[in-house]
Order: sequence, then C-alpha cells, then structure tokens
Amino acid sequence: MEKLKRFASACLCLFLTLTVSAQVFPEPGEHTTLRADLQTLAKRLLRNKQGSIIAIEPATGKVLCMVSKDKVDDGINRAISMTYSPGSTFKTAQTLTLWSLHALSMTKSYPCHKGFYYNKVHIGCHPHHSPLTLIPAIGQSCNSYFCKAFQEFVDDRTLYPVKSTAIDDWARFMRSLGLGHPLGIDLPEEAAGCIPDAAMLDKLHGAWNGTTIMWVGMGQGEVRTTPLQLCNLAAIIANRGWYYIPHVSNHPDSTYLVKHHALAHADAYPIVIKGMRNAVLSGTCKSINTLMYKICGKTGTAENKGHDHSIFMGFAPMDYPKVAVAVYVENGGFGADLAAPLASLIIEQAINHKLSAKSEYRARGWEKTTVKITKVEQVVNFDDL
Ligand SMILES: [Zn+2]
Repeated sequence: MEKLKRFASACLCLFLTLTVSAQVFPEPGEHTTLRADLQTLAKRLLRNKQGSIIAIEPATGKVLCMVSKDKVDDGINRAISMTYSPGSTFKTAQTLTLWSLHALSMTKSYPCHKGFYYNKVHIGCHPHHSPLTLIPAIGQSCNSYFCKAFQEFVDDRTLYPVKSTAIDDWARFMRSLGLGHPLGIDLPEEAAGCIPDAAMLDKLHGAWNGTTIMWVGMGQGEVRTTPLQLCNLAAIIANRGWYYIPHVSNHPDSTYLVKHHALAHADAYPIVIKGMRNAVLSGTCKSINTLMYKICGKTGTAENKGHDHSIFMGFAPMDYPKVAVAVYVENGGFGADLAAPLASLIIEQAINHKLSAKSEYRARGWEKTTVKITKVEQVVNFDDL
C-alpha cells in the first residue's frame, strides 16, 4: 500500500514538473534567434511590471526578443500563452480587413464627441477633432469611427445578403492575418486567441446584429489575441502582406521557411501604414517620434476589471523595416503612457545596437517605474464554444 502511495506521489510530482516545465522562456545562445542585447534591455524595462515584450525581424520571422515578466509568480510565458483584448491595436487589422471587403473609403467621415450614443448604448472616446476620415481616425484611434464602420459593415445587406456571411468572411480575413489560431511558433503552450465567427456569435448571443457586437470594431468584445500575434501582425504590415511563422530556433525546419500571405488586398497596406505613421507624427503616440528613423505604431488600452492594460504594436523603419515590436503591460494604463515609450527604446536598440545617452537615461527611469498589479482578466478560452 505504502509502495503504491509513493508511486502515486512520484507520478503526481512528475505530472506537476511536466506541467510547470511546459512553459518555456527561451534565452539567447547559439541555438536561438534571440539577441542578448534586446533581451537584457527588455528585462530591464519590464522590471517591477507584469507583461511581455516581443520583437520580430519581419523579413525572416526570427524572434529577436521575447521577455515575459510576472509579479504573481504564475510561471506563464505571457508573450505566447496569455490572451487579452487587443484594444485599439486591433484597428490596424480592422482597417486591412474592412478595406479589402469594400466597407471603408478614404473620404467617409464619422462624427465623434468623446464617443457617441446609439440606442442608449454609449461608446466612449477621448477628445479630438471631429469628424475624422480613415487616416486620422487610425492616428487618433477613434472608437466612434471603428465601431460605426464595423456596425455598418455587419448590417449592410447590399454588401452581403446575410449577416452570417459578412462576419464569416470578416473572420476569414482576420485569421489570414495570423489571429484567432496558434501561429505555430516552435515553443510549447501557444494560445489560439479568438476571432468570433457567425457560429460562435449565435451560441454566445442568440440574436445579434451590428449594434450588439459593435465593440468588436474597436478590439473589445469577444476578440482575444496573444502579444505574439500582435507582433506578427506588425510584421505582416511591415512586409505589406506576408509573414514567416515566428521562430526562436536558429535551425528551423521547413515549416518556418514558407511564406504565408494574408488575404487583405495590396492597396490596404499603404493606408494602414499611413495611419500608423500618423499616430506617431501627430496622433496617440507622438511622444515617441524621432528623427533617427520613421516609426509606424498603434497604441491600445484594453479594458480590464482592474486597471486597464497598456499596449503598443509597431515597426520601423517605415520603408525598409528591420524590426516589428509588441509591448503589453498589464494594468499599465493608456498605451501611450507606458507601452509606447518602452517599445521605442526596443526599436532604438534593435536598429542602432545601442541607446543614445538620453534614451539610456529614460530606460533607467522606466526600470524604476513600478506598476501595481490589480485584477487581471482571466484567460478566456473560446475554443470549446
Ligand atoms: Zn473618437
């Protein structure tokens, strides 16, 4: 009996060890694509915070940096295993998809006065000039623009005779952007995220229409992404339409040498890039603009039960991109306040292989900045629905 107990206990220990060790935190070395200088900087920047920083070389899919930091000691690689609302960074994928499905135009504008009301539903936004057309709507990250444009797309029966075909087509384009499924990185425990389709919306909401799901337009609602997926999305935009599956092995198998082409039309990329450049020049992340190279970026703030999460995704330089970056700081507040300046330092180190004296001073400041962890939304897994 005692022997049996010991065997059972040994099995449990082995199970727990395997479960815990299933999460892998890759480190730089001759076998990985990670750059030691970027890893060191990302670890410094995430000190006293919880979240992740990822950088990918768009031309190859090589992961140059992947750091996950937790304060709650749950051992989760947040870069690939945690799914969150993408918040406003999703407006980049929304632009690519809705433009390709003929649901956006360069001239149409939507009014926004700190948001809008629709049938007693209020969507909030920050103060900005109104009305806005597409490019400044990306730059200013206007919630009214993207919720209304998405609502109209779902409810426009001249575009699609039935709403389920509209949302399924939308989901197909989104998935081709590497969202809503594991990308296939050569690390275990990669999460799928969630891009809702008609079958899922039927199950979750019963009767639904453009109004009841319009939050999806601004990256809330059912949409969930991993930080890796956001970084890969930035790489797809940097490449103007394609990606290699991100990988950390320096000797990847043939799976990682196949180009994946997104379904978005070629003419959608210059538009979203102009919008992301607008965000850096005069929009939500103008504080990170530099004369050294042209950064294209998009901030995001994901609503959360505790303090909001701070998000940034982008790439640089605009014309010959060398690096795509995603930063996700849990409970970090507005994307512009924390994630964007951290990303700008990673971009500088990635391109220049060093930080200027001024940037090093800033890095020291961020290193000392503590972000208190309040409540973090549970990882939502829609795979079973
Ligand atoms: Zn607005």
